[in-house]
Amino acid sequence: MRGYTRWVPRSKSKLGDWHEYATERLREAGYHKGGGRERVVGLLAGKSCAVSALEIDAELNGVGRATVYRALDQLEQLGLIRRIELGLDSTGFEKVGPQGHHHHHIVCSNCGKVIPFEDQPLEKAIRAIAKRSGVSLESHDVTLRGTCTGCD
Ligand SMILES: [Zn+2]
Ligand SMILES: [Zn+2]
Repeated sequence: MRGYTRWVPRSKSKLGDWHEYATERLREAGYHKGGGRERVVGLLAGKSCAVSALEIDAELNGVGRATVYRALDQLEQLGLIRRIELGLDSTGFEKVGPQGHHHHHIVCSNCGKVIPFEDQPLEKAIRAIAKRSGVSLESHDVTLRGTCTGCD
């Protein structure tokens, strides 16, 4: 990533400090504090999983859709959030922590329920696959689809 300064988290929690981490990264990138972007960051900080741009827009009454979309683009470019395709017409945005910390999802094809999961051996396997394929890994998507226990 261009001009990337590795950020050292103050506590051991990986996504718990995302708000502070994102604020610092935005400051380093030359963005001024305040306004709609700060409210988008504040809202995302409180979410544990993906939210759509429409949900963000609805929750941040008064910020304006254009501002929300621009803020999401900026955060995505800085690698602070990622875009997740969870189904038909459902693009979500969620936090990416220091050192690229993130989770993946299981989506029920019947009710649309989204179950987040983290798996370090899976992350390790993905990095190993990229390495032996000679690919410099930028990102990856893993989504499991099936029927959840409630829909069985
Ligand atoms: Zn998620
Ligand atoms: Zn992963």
